[in-house]
Amino acid sequence: MCGVFGVFNNPSASKMTFLGLHALQHRGQESAGIAVSDGYDINLKLGSGLVTKAIKESDLEELRGDIAIGHVRYSTAGGSNIKNIQPFFAHFFGGSFAIAHNGNLVNARDIRYELEKNGAIFRSTSDTEVFVHLIAKSKEPPPSHIMLHKNDVEFLPLVFSAMKKVKGAYSLTILREKQLIAIRDPYGFRPLVLGKNKTGSYFVASETCAFDIVDAEYLRDIKPGEVLVIDDAGMRSYFPFEHTEKAEKCIFEFVYFARPDSLIFNDYVYGIRKEMGRQLAREYPIDADCVVPVLDSGMLAAKGYSEESGIPLEIGLIRNHYVGRSFIQPTQEIRDLSVKLKLNPVKEVIEGKRIIVIDDSIVRGTTSKKIVNMLKKAGAKEIHMLISSPPVIAPCYYGIDTPTKEELIANQMSIDEIKEFIGCDSLHYLSLEGMIEAAGKEKGFCTACFTENYPVL
Ligand code: SF4
Repeated sequence: MCGVFGVFNNPSASKMTFLGLHALQHRGQESAGIAVSDGYDINLKLGSGLVTKAIKESDLEELRGDIAIGHVRYSTAGGSNIKNIQPFFAHFFGGSFAIAHNGNLVNARDIRYELEKNGAIFRSTSDTEVFVHLIAKSKEPPPSHIMLHKNDVEFLPLVFSAMKKVKGAYSLTILREKQLIAIRDPYGFRPLVLGKNKTGSYFVASETCAFDIVDAEYLRDIKPGEVLVIDDAGMRSYFPFEHTEKAEKCIFEFVYFARPDSLIFNDYVYGIRKEMGRQLAREYPIDADCVVPVLDSGMLAAKGYSEESGIPLEIGLIRNHYVGRSFIQPTQEIRDLSVKLKLNPVKEVIEGKRIIVIDDSIVRGTTSKKIVNMLKKAGAKEIHMLISSPPVIAPCYYGIDTPTKEELIANQMSIDEIKEFIGCDSLHYLSLEGMIEAAGKEKGFCTACFTENYPVL
């Protein structure tokens, strides 16, 4: 899970990128970076932690230029090494470029092995660096069906060639000295949107919430398989793949990852997440006193459930927003307390009540168990756990940090066994059909973590 951002033609490009990354902070809290071009040179600032820790105001003063890209990282491939902070920057025979990636390449290890065997030296353990090498090494001519603009004849054939070699999920922003390039893989796993402000600056971002903060309007999605180039000559789109793949947009973006005030995959996250809750109410009508969301991600599904069922919504669990990931060392004892650091029940709401608790997913099951325990201690009479997605039975290979198959509780236990494990009175998951219906089945979704039907391996 990462977030990417890009801006073209803005005198405060690095500041805009800083703000955009701040809005995308939910997509990655491990590190952040900005690369800026003044038309001749590319400069970078990278750092660990949240955007405000990684990049200081004084850094922004030094990052001068009209074109910039940025990245917030949550490590999926490559671990949390400081060398893996993006954007990555490279000099090569054709100039220089910086690249920021959201997604995960499934064949990165094989490509890296081949490259290293032929003498390539990698500086990071990230799959994204494979792109850098492939771009710098490519010698292939552009596909015959593509007519390139004169500004694109040198660099883009290298990019097209790299895209043909990699497999998996990639939404990319690339910065060149005089260009901003936005790319989405042919399946369109991860979102990527295009926007513009009143003064003629263009923006690309993982989600539209990053446009709102810089006062830009959403224009459209970058299409699956599209390479969009923005420079002084205008905006041009190329589609290097002659055939089109079946769309495989990550449905989990709608379930959990994307911010509810964003528009992604041509739709509003807010409405879809709420519809998942409505669908849950249609599938599992339960006689209860109140609906309680596990904040923040369960909020909209709980609202949808409440509206559809007529059972009042109550904030029976309060979330502490000030708990950072590195708040305290993760010893076992502290891990046991960690849910309490984040959530606390409101006794007044819970005591003596039959409650429906709504969460977006169950991964290992340990958090749900702690929540149920907490609610029991607060005096709940009945606890019905409802999940606004189907059981997660398989890991994601397309850019989401999920545990191994063995660690996924739904892979190891039946729904009844999970119910016993977490200690609730009943447990129900939204059906796969119900989830797809709520998200809009015509869009084409990846559902591999629920079905093991991996579109590309
Ligand atoms: S496997 Fe799951 S999380 Fe990964 S892209 Fe597919 S739907 Fe999204």
